[in-house]
Amino acid sequence: MGRPLPDVLRVDWPANTAEPPAATLAALDRATEVLRTGGRVAIPTETVYGLAADALDEFAVDGIFRAKGRPATNPLIVHVADVAMAKSLAASWPEAAGRLAAALWPGPLTVVVPRGPDVPDIVTAGGPTVALRCPAHRLTRLLIARSGIPLAAPSANRSERVSPTTAHHVLEGLGDRVDLILDGGPCTQGIESTVVDCTVTPPRILRPGPLPRRRLEEALGGPVLGPDAPAGVADAPARSPGARARHYAPRTRLELRGDAVARVDELLRQGRRVGWLTTQVAEPAVRTLAANRDLVIVPMPDEPGAFAAALYAALHALDRRELDRIVVDEPPSGEEWHAIRDRLTRAAT
Ligand code: AMP
Ligand code: MG
Repeated sequence: MGRPLPDVLRVDWPANTAEPPAATLAALDRATEVLRTGGRVAIPTETVYGLAADALDEFAVDGIFRAKGRPATNPLIVHVADVAMAKSLAASWPEAAGRLAAALWPGPLTVVVPRGPDVPDIVTAGGPTVALRCPAHRLTRLLIARSGIPLAAPSANRSERVSPTTAHHVLEGLGDRVDLILDGGPCTQGIESTVVDCTVTPPRILRPGPLPRRRLEEALGGPVLGPDAPAGVADAPARSPGARARHYAPRTRLELRGDAVARVDELLRQGRRVGWLTTQVAEPAVRTLAANRDLVIVPMPDEPGAFAAALYAALHALDRRELDRIVVDEPPSGEEWHAIRDRLTRAAT
C-alpha cells in the first residue's frame, strides 16, 4: 500500500495587493509545518518546480535523495530569501557573488561559494562549496522568509527525468514521494538556473541557464568563463559534480535534427509514431506531413525565452502518448539558445 497522494494547494498573490490572500498564507503555514517536521514540499519557482526540505536537517535532505533516486554525488542548490540568508550559509562571500547577486537576485542565478559550517555534508555531496539561489517566485521567497528555513531543492522529478514546470507534472512524477505540493502556476522561465562558480577568478559558468553569459558579464563588470572554456583558464579546476551527459530526458527516445523534415518523413514511412517539436509549422513541407495520423506536431515559439518556457511541458505531453520517437528541430546557434541546446543535447544522449 502506498501512502496517500499529497494535497495540492493553490498559492497566489494577485498583483497590486499588499498581502497574499488568507488561503495562500494558510498554505504557506502548512508547508512550514511539513518542513519543520522533516518532510518534503514541492515549491514553485520561476525556473522549474523544486522538491524542497530544510537544508540544515540532514535527515530531511536525505529524504530528497531517496524520493528522487538521486545519486549522493550530485549536490543540491539551497534556496534563500535574500543575500543575508545566503551569507549565513557561506564561509566567505566572494566579491563576484556579491556583484552577481546584487544585480540578478531574485532570479535564475545560482552562485557556488565556500560552504559555511552549518551546511550538512549531504547537501554539498561532501564538497567544500555550496550552491545558493534566491528564487524570483515571490510566494516561495515568502515561504523561506516567514519560516526562516533555507530550502535545499533540486527539481521535483525522478532523477534523470524531465523537470516539472507545473504542479501537475510533480504529482504525476513523484506521487506519494512528496508530502505537499504548492501550486504557484506554470514556471515562467522553464529551464534550470544558470550555475556560476564564484570560487574561481574569473568566475565560470558550470551550467548554462536562462541568464546568458553576456548578462552575467554586465552584472559583474568583467569576464565570465563559459562551461566549455579549456581547463586551466580559471585559477582552479572547474567542478561540476552531477553534470552528467544524460539528464533531463523523456522516456521516449529523442533525436535532435538539423534535417527534421526529412527525418520525420523517413520515420513515418517506417511506420513509426512520431512527436515533433518544431518552430517551422508554417512551412508547406511541414503542413503536408501534418496530415499523417501517426504524427503529433507541437508548434514551438521561435524566441528562446518562450521556447524554454514551453519545452518541458511539451516533452511531458509527448511522453504520455507512447510514441516511438520524439524529433526536435536543432535550435539556432547563438548564446541565447545555449541553455536550450544544452538541455536538448542531454535529452538526446
Ligand atoms: P538540480 O538541482 O537537479 O537542478 O541540479 C543542481 C546542479 O547544481 C547540480 O547538477 C550541480 O552541477 C550544481 N551544483 C550544486 N551544488 C554545487 C556545488 N557545490 N558546486 C558545483 N555545482 C553544484
Ligand atoms: Mg534536476
